[in-house]
Amino acid sequence: MARRCPECYAELPEDAVWVCPTCGYTLRTPGAAKVGIVFMVLGLVLLGAFVYGPERIGLTSGLVPTDLARLMIVNFPLLVLGTFGIGAFLVAAAALKLRSEHARVAAA
Ligand SMILES: [Zn+2]
Repeated sequence: MARRCPECYAELPEDAVWVCPTCGYTLRTPGAAKVGIVFMVLGLVLLGAFVYGPERIGLTSGLVPTDLARLMIVNFPLLVLGTFGIGAFLVAAAALKLRSEHARVAAA
């Protein structure tokens, strides 16, 4: 049985994986986008922890080796930016991939 686009119910050709060729509906979200969103959320959580106070979230409770905990607290802004940056990069990469697929479909 042929797959159908959930948006316009047009039959989908075999090679339509990401974008419906009829209406341009995004059929599937690239995995990178989902991972990227997880990273961005994690970055926001870390940002919240940073605002709350990195030394107050239990890093120094003995759960994490003291040296590592101190290193994390010192580099916390970097940690937040890095995590959020990775997420933003993955989401942007996925968005670009979808955009190129849209362009390919539009040109066909
Ligand atoms: Zn469609």
